[in-house]
Amino acid sequence: MNILVLGGGGREHALAWAIKQNPKCDRLIVAPGNAGIAAIAECAELDILDGGAVVDFAEQNAIDFVVIGPEAPLAAGVADRLAEAGILAFGPSAAAARLEASKAFTKEICDAAGAPTAAWARFDDAEAARAHIRTTGAPIVVKADGLAAGKGVIVAMDEATALGAIDDMFSGEFGAAGAEVVIEEFMTGEEASFFLLCDGETVLPIGTAQDHKRAFDGDEGPNTGGMGAYSPAPVLSDAIAEQALAEIVRPTIREMARRGTPYKGVLYAGLMIENGRARLVEYNVRFGDPECQVLMMRLGAQVLDLLLACAEGRLSELRVDWADDHALTVVMAAEGYPGPYAKGSIITGLDALPQDSAHMVFHAGTALDNGRLVAAGGRVLNVTARGATLAEARSRAYDMIAQIDWPGGFCRSDIGWRAL
Ligand code: ATP
Repeated sequence: MNILVLGGGGREHALAWAIKQNPKCDRLIVAPGNAGIAAIAECAELDILDGGAVVDFAEQNAIDFVVIGPEAPLAAGVADRLAEAGILAFGPSAAAARLEASKAFTKEICDAAGAPTAAWARFDDAEAARAHIRTTGAPIVVKADGLAAGKGVIVAMDEATALGAIDDMFSGEFGAAGAEVVIEEFMTGEEASFFLLCDGETVLPIGTAQDHKRAFDGDEGPNTGGMGAYSPAPVLSDAIAEQALAEIVRPTIREMARRGTPYKGVLYAGLMIENGRARLVEYNVRFGDPECQVLMMRLGAQVLDLLLACAEGRLSELRVDWADDHALTVVMAAEGYPGPYAKGSIITGLDALPQDSAHMVFHAGTALDNGRLVAAGGRVLNVTARGATLAEARSRAYDMIAQIDWPGGFCRSDIGWRAL
């Protein structure tokens, strides 16, 4: 079959890599793709936020299946346009993608479903929000309702920070995303991510992961899109996963179906685990980046069968073929990231690295400049390895990094420390 993947980061490189290994895949196009993806698939220029353009492209190229990577095209209704055109696609409708696009919507669903989560209140008026903070006190969490590229959440350890966050959010800085604010109880515990495929009814767990959000070793420094991840997450034991399924995920899926907006796609549940129980922090409606890289490394070629069954409503027929293994990815980023950083620095040494089911370098932000590989983004490479233990996966990943020559880049040296 002919497959189109939308997106151009490390997540989409990993998806394309896994899909490509499945014999059902004849032709693979990724839009826009990147320099690493270009080595395994055709890359195409396409406005992936424009549903009409995606449908036209899919029809012109006889695409049988579209896999939507990032959240923005989902929130923009690209899956809806493809469904209307009769093109099979993996990814939720815009109505179901509100589980990520609106934090207040997710909280409403949790309340209706009885799913454990932080206590919350919503405000579209700054004075009322300030009064709530003064009454409740700190620590407290202030969130812009809409998509804000990970910058719309302030975990305030004191009241002044929380009040400052209210000023910022209602200042217009966050545009429509900040027109409404959700204020939440501060939860303590350890965070982990639970990934599930949902076809509207059936829920199939496909792995757990933990990521490292801070830029520097020891979980210090500014927040980033993620500096590394590993799977499985030891803190998410089978018993806690079962509780999260029974109390959080399945009730959510039932509530979405009851509302006439069934959830179809990958559901990424961000959980806070304390005293052997999980509470929901947030939902995302796509694979995490870089968590996707470790999941793909572990699942391999069966990913295409899983995504197809999910899109076709056949998940109840499928089982995940689990290996008792571990995967870990280390993000190499441009010096300066997540602040201002330079583009164009030259990266060498990748050609000599092994590329097999235990070793892969997924490209996040790279380009080719006169045949030379150069950095073209903040997060640039995802050096990913699999092993019988987490320690083995980690040492394989760092062995690969030692062979990469990129003076303009940096990475954390302690990915996986919590689990090890
Ligand atoms: P991202 O997609 O980057 O994870 P986001 O903007 O969707 O972020 P959330 O995941 O809701 O926002 O929050 C970001 C982080 O803030 C969480 O990963 C968690 O560490 C912290 N956080 C959010 N809500 C709470 C809470 N109620 N209590 C404690 N910490 C929280």
